[in-house]
Amino acid sequence: MSVFTEKLLTWYQENKRVHPWKATKEPYHIWLSEIILQQTRVDQGTPYFLRFKAEYPTITDLANASEDEVMRLWEGLGYYSRARNLHATAKYIAFECGGIFPNTYKEILALKGVGPYTAAAIASFAYDLAHAVVDGNVYRVLGRYFNIATPIDTTKGKKEFAKLAAALLDQQDPATYNQAIMDFGATQCVPAQPDCAHCPMSNSCQAYQRKTVTIRPVKSKKTKQSKRFFHYLVIATPDQKVYLHKRTKKDIWQNLYEFPLIEKESLLASEELGLEEIFQKQAFWLRRVSSIYRQQLSHQKIHALFLEIQLKEAFQKADEQEWIAVPRNQLEKYALPRIVNTYLEQCEQGQNRQLLMDF
Ligand code: SF4
Repeated sequence: MSVFTEKLLTWYQENKRVHPWKATKEPYHIWLSEIILQQTRVDQGTPYFLRFKAEYPTITDLANASEDEVMRLWEGLGYYSRARNLHATAKYIAFECGGIFPNTYKEILALKGVGPYTAAAIASFAYDLAHAVVDGNVYRVLGRYFNIATPIDTTKGKKEFAKLAAALLDQQDPATYNQAIMDFGATQCVPAQPDCAHCPMSNSCQAYQRKTVTIRPVKSKKTKQSKRFFHYLVIATPDQKVYLHKRTKKDIWQNLYEFPLIEKESLLASEELGLEEIFQKQAFWLRRVSSIYRQQLSHQKIHALFLEIQLKEAFQKADEQEWIAVPRNQLEKYALPRIVNTYLEQCEQGQNRQLLMDF
């Protein structure tokens, strides 16, 4: 066993984190936790894990749920393709594999929404198969400890790190080793200002010895960010309803609901949005335009305005965007993007009272 692995396992004995999915070998629960924890912090993901487990005790229960129910339970976690994949995979396992979770790395990797990292985690935690996890934590820990200058976002870098991770894995107990390196990266060798002075690895950590901790691991390119500008039409009808539509296209928030949307190259004044054309001969009254709401996604920044519109009569727009009239007090039954929920919460808190109170 390497010095690194020995020190890591010793550290883990005293510093392991306790999570509800760690004490189990049940592959359904391990898979569920791993999908939730992709792109999500443990403290944020834990209540979702417990809720899914309580609502759907078996993978067949999850498979039998409607997609809207699953999306609703997922609401607020972001990266909604994970929820769609979760549901599709549950159906596949329940209805095509007789409810038996696959038990080889290759079969696990073939599941929708499962990449090499998640497959290695499930294979080792549920079945003690010797596959090393490699994620952002592992790149950081190994990049620093071994002072590796190869960029992690290149083919060469990915191969080098995967090879090193496999060589360091404790073949006798891969599950504990994988848990240990993830916990070490999450709590000791953290991205910003790790406490190297009190780290049990510091004597042999190459980056600490050579003062390169802040520049490890290395990335070759910066992620491109794009800006998007949304104008949401919060259309209230005389019979206390508002319109929603479902985002069905391959884009962010697929299968979530939102107010009818006009997306433009920049934020525009209401007169520039062609509202007359949308409502045609229908009488409408623009009551208020909200302040700008912003939401940062991984590669996009969303800027949104909410235009609160009162209609005199119910209205159905005849085009590809189907609008559903929803009673205002039933909006919570729909899975909505976070930016829409933030707006609605502020309506409830009285900052935008017109929508929920005065219409
Ligand atoms: S000494 Fe610092 S950089 Fe090196 S492993 Fe420990 S926390 Fe990470």
